[in-house]
Amino acid sequence: MKIKEILSHLEAKFPLYLQEDFDNSGIQCGDKEQEVTGVLVCFDPSPEVLEEAKEKGANLIISHHPLVFTGLKKIEPVDRIGRIIFKAIENKQVMYAMHTNMDSAAGGGNDLFAQKLGLTNCEVLSPKDSLYQKVIFFIPENESAPLKNALFAIGCGCIGRYDHCSYQMTGFGSFRPLQGAQPHTGQVNNMELIEEERVEMIFPANLQRRVIDTIYKYHLYEEPAFDIVKLENKERKAGLGRVGFLPQAMDALQFLEYVKKQMDVNLIRYSGNMDKKIKKVAVCGGGGSSLIQVALRSGADAYVTGDIKYHDFYTPEERMMIADIGHFEGEHFIREIIYNEIKGNFITFATSLSTVEKLKIYNI
Ligand SMILES: [Zn+2]
Repeated sequence: MKIKEILSHLEAKFPLYLQEDFDNSGIQCGDKEQEVTGVLVCFDPSPEVLEEAKEKGANLIISHHPLVFTGLKKIEPVDRIGRIIFKAIENKQVMYAMHTNMDSAAGGGNDLFAQKLGLTNCEVLSPKDSLYQKVIFFIPENESAPLKNALFAIGCGCIGRYDHCSYQMTGFGSFRPLQGAQPHTGQVNNMELIEEERVEMIFPANLQRRVIDTIYKYHLYEEPAFDIVKLENKERKAGLGRVGFLPQAMDALQFLEYVKKQMDVNLIRYSGNMDKKIKKVAVCGGGGSSLIQVALRSGADAYVTGDIKYHDFYTPEERMMIADIGHFEGEHFIREIIYNEIKGNFITFATSLSTVEKLKIYNI
């Protein structure tokens, strides 16, 4: 089995188009056309993890955090990233990251975070703007099937658990072929009015190039008639953070103890009014300071996240508790999601979790 087949399975569930603009989820380096020899799942890419993968015979290393995050102008083995890339290429290893696409997707890191706290009636805290566009094309009546099927085949017309979704209606299209035209229907210099189907279907914005290519390949007209429009719908199931309700309201201190137990942490930095009961809780794995205002607007009594800066603790002015459990602590379990997804679906090669990597930031 080729590495790309495993990656396309993962990307069907945790699509790369869900990643944030600043992110670099996906392939970091390596050739995905290789046959897979084994998979190692880790949190952060490191030389130790590469060595572990080599010892275990794994040529696909999947991390949560990307190795390459900002643009690289050169790759030399003189810094951490350069050395890791050099080593990975030398070892013929493919490095792949599942970062904010994993955070945002249904069944990803933030869903598991909310689940660990037992939150119910969960919603996405910061739903993503629409990731979809719509293609509308006009084609002679009863001749739309080949183009429709070709568009379905590349991923158009999928809505949640439904595929092959489209809408069509019949109307009249007019045109006049000019000198030199080679019309599918009609004569040069004659006005034409023919029955056409108007077909609409949505598609993820990242498919736009392929949609246009498919239309040019399968549309019958010399000049294909189509529109592509951007949709403004908000996503309901994808985006950063989740907000939901505890099984029952808790005192503030009781809530903090509960978070410690559920998230298996022994240190929480927090701010807020300790006399306030906690019932509605927002969470965001990793560093979630950018969503403090969103959490406030959601009406959450507490916001559990990581990487909160000094001044950010004061932003809610005691209207909402902020609990900082740490960046790693709020998302390390993403490794298990990736591991289980591969282990549960592929049995012809070994998949393992890294045992050498450990958190190298200490509390004293
Ligand atoms: Zn992170």
